[in-house]
Amino acid sequence: MVKTDGWGSVSVLEKMEIIDQVSKSYYVESMENKSLNAYEGGCLCGAVRYKVDGEPSVVAHCHCESCQRGSGAGHSTGAVFPAVGVRLTGHVSEYKYTSDNGNEVTRVFCPECGSPILGHNSSTKGYVSITLGTIDDSSNLEPKVVVFARNRKPWDGLDQGLPTFEDQPNWKPEVDV
Ligand SMILES: [Zn+2]
Ligand SMILES: [Zn+2]
Repeated sequence: MVKTDGWGSVSVLEKMEIIDQVSKSYYVESMENKSLNAYEGGCLCGAVRYKVDGEPSVVAHCHCESCQRGSGAGHSTGAVFPAVGVRLTGHVSEYKYTSDNGNEVTRVFCPECGSPILGHNSSTKGYVSITLGTIDDSSNLEPKVVVFARNRKPWDGLDQGLPTFEDQPNWKPEVDV
């Protein structure tokens, strides 16, 4: 179902069971258009590597409290991709919790070095948010929005000039993962 490209990988879909018709058709369309970009990345120690096809639907700075705790910084910056185009290699650990609005959030990280790799939210099946700092070359990716600005710490400046929301705007895919 998901090409492994010789990565010998466990697809993130098999791992997360979040196959979704929407993302599947998006992926097939992208493949047909042969317009797929590919991003590669990995954790600090190198035990976890990944490859992602396509372009993110959005790149967002999220200042929510769980992103602060999960990243250890003032916010996390994530790129939302259809999960069907994501292939992981290496062993990962998951941490699941229930968000304030009742959705199940899963954070996927390297058990060796602790790097946060990606997350997903049960309200947006079929999409994952990949931490921008783990992408090898993210130089052409631009954050488009700031969310959960209400949780911003005084020492962590907002990205001025971007559309900014106090909490999670009502859109799909949800970027708070
Ligand atoms: Zn690692
Ligand atoms: Zn967040």
